[in-house]
This record gives sequence, structure tokens and C-alpha cells, in this order.
Amino acid sequence: MSTPLENDPSTAAAPSTGHRTGRTTRPPEVDRAAASRAAVAARRARAAVKADLAAGTRSPVEVLDTATGDPAGPEGTLRITDFLMSLKAIGVTKTAEILTRLPIADVKRLGGLGKHQRARLREFLLERFERARTGHLTRLVVLAGPTAVGKGTVARHIRQNYPDVLLSVSATTRVPRPGEVDGVDYYFVDDTEFDRLIADHELLEWAKVHNSHRYGTPRAPIERALAEGRSVLLEIDLQGARQVRAAMPDAVLVFLAPPSWDELVRRLIGRGTESQEEQRRRLATAKVELASQDEFDARVVNSSVPEAAREVVDLMQVRARRQRRAARSSGR
Ligand code: 5GP
Repeated sequence: MSTPLENDPSTAAAPSTGHRTGRTTRPPEVDRAAASRAAVAARRARAAVKADLAAGTRSPVEVLDTATGDPAGPEGTLRITDFLMSLKAIGVTKTAEILTRLPIADVKRLGGLGKHQRARLREFLLERFERARTGHLTRLVVLAGPTAVGKGTVARHIRQNYPDVLLSVSATTRVPRPGEVDGVDYYFVDDTEFDRLIADHELLEWAKVHNSHRYGTPRAPIERALAEGRSVLLEIDLQGARQVRAAMPDAVLVFLAPPSWDELVRRLIGRGTESQEEQRRRLATAKVELASQDEFDARVVNSSVPEAAREVVDLMQVRARRQRRAARSSGR
């Protein structure tokens, strides 16, 4: 672990006293006074955040989210170590353990965490604090990623092995492939019925995928499942994922990535379910989708289906019936 920074950014940001630079470059007295007042105010604001966390009047997740939205604010400039040590039952040793496990350098500030660090810290906070408070954790997870990456296979593995998770069944205007069952793989509908679903606001999101057929997520089963405290998994395309994010900001967006581009092409051609024209269209969409990875909260590489499924499910904090990893309980 690295050693903490010596300087508080608030004091570091204050102008120097100007011994080396001489009179001409020395900031006017009034500026120095203002900067010093601002530094004191910033320190006070951070102290107030810490006091609120310690008193439980603000939730750690809410503070983290505020820091993310405003990295220069009191929450954003709060050191990760100060943040963690303000939380109930977390002292110096526990803080060091948590930072090693996540892993996050102890010099980091809440607003300066990387995307993945932030996602891991958020998961940790949710499990440790929110779950204990509410008794369960309800999650909406959106699994997206390029064509043929294996979203369907990972989603099916989750349906079979993690019965607590509701796998949303989409409506589509495309025709069933051999072996696909109406109501299980999709609700296969015609254009008129799809138009009606849109008009009656029965879809949480919908999109025309690969420039051909329309796909949409029925809203009612999801709202029912979330209200019952179940976790829900949507396996949809990028356009749909963006719509869900806009409609439900708490949704966790997971990007399922192929081990490599060549492997993606091999899987698409290998499964042989699309014509050459359709394959070309899907690979063109895949290029665009691969470029969008940064929009996601988490990235899972699909090298092994059970492993990828477990990583996705870990984000929902639900477990297979007989699966419980000892590592989870350590330090929490
Ligand atoms: P396929 O035709 O191979 O079953 O699916 C084609 C694409 O449609 C996949 O990328 C899949 O994720 C996406 N898709 C399936 N259901 C939905 C949905 O309800 N909404 C959106 N936006 N995309 C979907």
C-alpha cells in the first residue's frame, strides 16, 4: 500500500507565501486570505460529511454517489481512508483490509476513484450497510454486450443455477429459431402487437436491433419482481441498456466482453444461425458496441460461462442455493 499524502488538497491549493518568488509574483493579500478562508470552509465541510456518516444521518452509498457527481465538492475531496474510518465498526485495520481487497490506494479521494474501483466500493457498501438495513438487496442488472459474445448463454446459466433471479423475457418481432419456445426465450409477436405494447406503455424500453427486428422489455413483470424484493436480470442490447439507465438510474449496467475480437467472430460464424448478410450486419453493430464499454458500471469477460455468470450474479449479491463463498464473510 502506498503511504498517505502529506498535504490536504485544501491547504495544498492555497497560494504559497511567496518567499522564493518575491514581491511581484506574490498573490495579493486579499487573495491569500480568501484562499485560506476557502480552505478552512472546505475542511469544515468534509468534517461535516464525516460527522454525518458517523452519526448515520447520511448513507455511505449516497455520499459516494455525491462524490462521483461532484469530485471537487466536500464528498469528492474526502480521502477514502477518512471516509471508511467514519463508518460504523470500521477502524484502521479494517480500512487497510478493505482497501487491499478492493483494491484501492489509500491516497485516493472519493471523487477520484476509477470506474471499477467505484463499482467495487459501491457493492461493498451496499452489501455491508444497505442490505443489513433493509434485510435484502433488490437489484436490477442489465447485461449487454456485442452479438455472439454469449449473453444468452450466460443468462440461461443464471436462470438455471440462480433461481432467485428473475430473467426478463423480452418481446420480439423476429421469428423463433429452432428450439426456441414462446414465453420462455421470447414472446414472439407481430408488428401490430408490438405497436400496441409501445402505445400502451407496456415496455420499459425497446429498440430496433441490428437494423432489423424490434425487441422490448415488458415492464410489469419487472416492477412486480422488484417490489417483491427479487433481483432482475435483463439481457438486452446497448440502446436498451441506455434507456433503462435513463428510466432507472439505480440499475447496474454490465458489459459482457469477448476474450478477443477474433474469438467473437469465431463464435458468430461458428454458431451458424445467421446468414452471411446478417453476420456482416451483426459484426458492424458489435464494433460500435465494443467501443461503448466505458458507459458501463462493470465489465465481465466471457471466457468461461459459469465464471462469467457468477461474476454477474455477484453484482446482485444473490447466491446459488448451495453456493456460498467463504471469502465473502471475511472482513465484513
Ligand atoms: P437475438 O435475435 O440473437 O435473440 O437477439 C439479438 C439482440 O437483441 C441481442 O443483442 C439481445 O441482447 C437484444 N435483445 C433481446 N431482447 C431485447 C430487449 O428486450 N430489448 C433490447 N433493447 N434488446 C434486446
